[in-house]
Amino acid sequence: MYDTIIIGAGAAGMTAALNVLRNGKTCLILEKELIGGQIANSPRVENYPSIKEISGEQFSSNLFDQIIDLGCKFELEEVLKVEKSVDVFTVTTNYAQYEAKTVVIATGAEHNKLNVPGENLKGVSYCALCDGAFYKGEEIAVIGDANTALQYALLLSNYAKKVHFCMLFDKFFGDKILSDRLVQKENVAIYKNIQLNEIRGKDSVEKLVFTNTQTNEEFDLDVKACFVAIGMSPKTDIFNDLVDRVKGYILVDENMMTKTDGLYAIGDVRSKTVRQLTTAVSDAAIAAFNITKRLS
Ligand SMILES: Cc1cc2nc3c(=O)[nH]c(=O)nc-3n(C[C@H](O)[C@H](O)[C@H](O)COP(=O)(O)OP(=O)(O)OC[C@H]3O[C@@H](n4cnc5c(N)ncnc54)[C@H](O)[C@@H]3O)c2cc1C
Repeated sequence: MYDTIIIGAGAAGMTAALNVLRNGKTCLILEKELIGGQIANSPRVENYPSIKEISGEQFSSNLFDQIIDLGCKFELEEVLKVEKSVDVFTVTTNYAQYEAKTVVIATGAEHNKLNVPGENLKGVSYCALCDGAFYKGEEIAVIGDANTALQYALLLSNYAKKVHFCMLFDKFFGDKILSDRLVQKENVAIYKNIQLNEIRGKDSVEKLVFTNTQTNEEFDLDVKACFVAIGMSPKTDIFNDLVDRVKGYILVDENMMTKTDGLYAIGDVRSKTVRQLTTAVSDAAIAAFNITKRLS
């Protein structure tokens, strides 16, 4: 039996592991996809204290090395169910079952889908870092208006012939430093007040069809790819009635504990106003401190 099982190897999950391991507790991390979670898809992180600039991939890999060196157990498995009986949690994955005295939910959030016809065509992507280089010299579109969309467009402007930046409203919802950089790019065209209705193409993306929400006129863009960054949502159904939720985000107390004793939730999956690296690792440190205290 582990002292703690952490679900999700994003910044929050791995930081929680770092702190419980340093306090002599045993720990298993279960991750369904990618070490690093969301931040692994970020081309450039510039707001983490004491690190001027680092790629999200490097940030994730450094953190992973740090916890593996401390003896963290890691399995690439998807958690399907968490149950509690008396003082023991049973965590069921697609391959196995594990037991722990405490469990930390660090499952973050996943990309929202557009829900328009054509979304399944080749060329629709939710990760500019993963797929951007395929569209070198092409015209492509970015759908969104906040930090992730801005970062995607800045990165893609290095490869693409032209980036069409498509916003639903008439203002940016991201950091000014990023939008200032974007408007200065010569190969970026910015469109405001447009809503995407359909993605057309035979096998892959060829055309995006929009409505101008001010004039109700239809207009389209011929592009080879469509990068989507329209927010994230948590997937917390598997935790059922072990947790209380607001719009899917898990409610915790000031120790990061859910309504179930010994079950914690940290990072982007919990109900809070600021979701970024520093708040994810802060949540993790608080949860780890409390786990150590209750187990010691
Ligand atoms: C493109 C992009 C750029 C960003 N840039 C910045 C930045 O520059 N600075 C900054 O501060 N923040 C940035 N952010 C936000 C930041 O990445 C997040 O706030 C932070 O990484 C959240 O970490 P987390 O560990 O809570 O969640 P996540 O990173 O979402 O990690 C959750 C992990 O849990 C795993 N998981 C989910 N469900 C299960 C399951 N059932 N079983 C097993 N594993 C599961 C997921 O696969 C994932 O790896 C960026 C986000 C994106 C998308």
